[in-house]
Amino acid sequence: MLKGKAALITGASRGIGRAIALSMAKQGANVAIVYAGNNLAASEVENEISSLGVKAKSYRCNVADYSAVEKLIEEVTLEFGGIDILVNNAGITRDKLIMQMNEADFDDVLNINLKGAYNMIKHTSRQFIKKRSGRIINITSVSGIMGNAGQANYSSSKAGMIGLTKSVAREFAGRNITCNAIAPGFIGTDMTDAMPESAKEELIKNIPLKRIGEPNDIANLAVFLASDLATYITGEVIRVDGGLSM
Ligand code: NAP
Repeated sequence: MLKGKAALITGASRGIGRAIALSMAKQGANVAIVYAGNNLAASEVENEISSLGVKAKSYRCNVADYSAVEKLIEEVTLEFGGIDILVNNAGITRDKLIMQMNEADFDDVLNINLKGAYNMIKHTSRQFIKKRSGRIINITSVSGIMGNAGQANYSSSKAGMIGLTKSVAREFAGRNITCNAIAPGFIGTDMTDAMPESAKEELIKNIPLKRIGEPNDIANLAVFLASDLATYITGEVIRVDGGLSM
């Protein structure tokens, strides 16, 4: 489905990003894996993808750093001969009630989750426009749609990503570039593993499909949105949450 395409996926060393990277590689894409600091996890993903017979290379880069991202895009473009699919998945949480949330808790989350996506789109869009094609997939969250107590910073960043997605979709539609967002519900990754078992059980009670989602539940949709099956879909925010937010 993605044979010969070059996909750049941020936060691909672990969790949802890793699943997206592997799924796209299984569909024939060459994959640039972007991560923050976990060298071991990133090289494991790189090896796993290479063993599928496609090209893989990992890049350590803080997505919040504007000039580092500019350099990253230049390097990936040179190495892969261009980028066809951009997945903005890197994200963090610093959950606290707003009364306890300090300025750094707010700024760090906004800078990585929202400004990081802006940085990536900003520096990739020139080549997308030039070749009149490109796919942008932003990983937001149902927290950005519903809000969530203890996540004012995170929900703001994820709601911001939804605005970013729709604006970019409108700006680039005339150039045959699509931009969509996926809003996961509760997915089993390192990000959610820290939650106490009792809290998880309580949460599952509110999920109509009665289970925590798996990274592949998100990856399946990302592959579809990046494929030729999705050429007429843009500006969408698709929830993958077992019915949690309906
Ligand atoms: P995760 O397991 O915590 O993995 C986070 C990934 O992001 C890692 O690859 C990490 O790299 C990378 N990363 C973090 N900060 C970065 C930075 N400044 N620059 C570059 N890369 C950075 O997270 P996840 O649960 O898979 O979540 C992935 C995305 O889905 C996030 O945007 C998250 O908000 C969203 N989401 C998750 C859930 C969920 O339930 N899990 C629900 C809704 C939305 P290192 O390995 O190097 O640290």
